Amino acid sequence: MAANDTPRVRNCGTMLVHERLLRTDPSYLSARVASENRAWEAATFRIAGRTGITVIPVVVHVVYRTNTQNIADTQIQSQIEVLNRDFRKTNPDAASTPAAFSALVADARIEFELATTDPQGNPTTGITRTQTNVASFGSDDGVKSAGSGGVDAWPADRYLNIWVCELGGGLLGYAQFPGGPAATDGVVILHSGFGTNGTAAAPFNLGRTATHEIGHWVNLRHIWGDDGSGCSGDDFVTDTPNQAGSNTGMPSFPRVSCNNGPNGDLFMNYMDYTDDAGMFMFTHGQVTRMQATLDGDRISIGYQKPAPVTLKFRDDINTLKFRDDVATLKFRDDVVTLKFRDDNTTLKFIDDNNTLKFRDDIATLKFRDDMVTNPRLDPIKDPQLDKPPIMDRAKMPSGDLAQGTTSDRSLQRVGPAPFILSTPHHSTAWARSYAGAYEDTMAAYEAQIAEYEQFLEQYSEAEAAGQLTASDIAEAEQLYAEYVRLVDEYYQLSNG
Ligand SMILES: [Zn+2]
Repeated sequence: MAANDTPRVRNCGTMLVHERLLRTDPSYLSARVASENRAWEAATFRIAGRTGITVIPVVVHVVYRTNTQNIADTQIQSQIEVLNRDFRKTNPDAASTPAAFSALVADARIEFELATTDPQGNPTTGITRTQTNVASFGSDDGVKSAGSGGVDAWPADRYLNIWVCELGGGLLGYAQFPGGPAATDGVVILHSGFGTNGTAAAPFNLGRTATHEIGHWVNLRHIWGDDGSGCSGDDFVTDTPNQAGSNTGMPSFPRVSCNNGPNGDLFMNYMDYTDDAGMFMFTHGQVTRMQATLDGDRISIGYQKPAPVTLKFRDDINTLKFRDDVATLKFRDDVVTLKFRDDNTTLKFIDDNNTLKFRDDIATLKFRDDMVTNPRLDPIKDPQLDKPPIMDRAKMPSGDLAQGTTSDRSLQRVGPAPFILSTPHHSTAWARSYAGAYEDTMAAYEAQIAEYEQFLEQYSEAEAAGQLTASDIAEAEQLYAEYVRLVDEYYQLSNG
């Protein structure tokens, strides 16, 4: 059907279905009574069951006769997005609520997602497509059965069934209240009143027909109380004003009826009959009713949305600042060791990430080795800096050194020592072209051995004072291993 067949005024068939079920299904009446009792108890005693946000798996059954009616996935997705805004109060037009009613606007705490698993447990897109020869469906549930040219429901205790098809009789859609037969549970939407693109046509191209019908599916009544234009009908919600009949099109605030001045009807509510652009809010009382339904008739459907994952740092994040240009600040996936990559322009790390450690006191974000401010780190590029320090020639280390004691003071620490984790190999290379290279090389070894001794002594003192963490001790052990290796090299060179 072409878009010009879209109804000009909202017309919902839910009450027709409701009255038919009351006539034909004896269990429906008792189920409805039970539903209303639960809703009343929830509102009166403020009973809260589900907390947080409930996510409802949705299956969209597209039943089409023409290719046009076989709406695209993107049109379906646009409808899901509308639902997730409207039922979470994140729809931008909620801000258009008149100030007199703004305190009523509520987050329904319901989200929707296309099902990813079908009733048999297989992966699914959450969309079924069925070709039919039925020209248009009505409010008689024909679209909900394969036997009448439609497609059967998925289990209603696990899925919200949405049938999208051509509807006759000026119907935009209809829903089945909780408590009805599972085989027909769900909502039906005219394809040109579904989603925001594709065949969706003004004034019902903002996805609000589905918002309205799903409101019925979680037990919301029309806001005017379904009593024609009288003032005695009730929507069983206390924070919605009493209202005479339905409002259509785009009313102007205020619209007074049933002596409900000065603010008048809550015509911008999803459960009135305005155009899509004219409805943009649920009330707290309606949310209580919906949540009571999720705790009652629809207790088995949906799951609680997990809390968002928060990336936490061990330390006061207020002092850990990154530059705005995070595009170049990359972390590797292996968070166990939290490695940074080298490609940040101003924040540089040495390449050997295995030895890159952060101190516990991140307040000042200190690194052990600052390449920018520590000129001793770059001896290779400057032979003059790499030159071993002139020093008093120390004696050979005693045998005690090789045993790892730090008591032998026969090696004196003199002059600036090389960086602690560097090795004397640089000096060895340099020494090949340097007169007296051997002596200087050995002197460099001695100086570095002395430096290691000093560090090991500091570790020992800190350990005695109980100041070492487990990681500090691990570092000390690594340092000691380096120290032993260095002494071994020294002996090999001195003997060779
Ligand atoms: Zn309705």
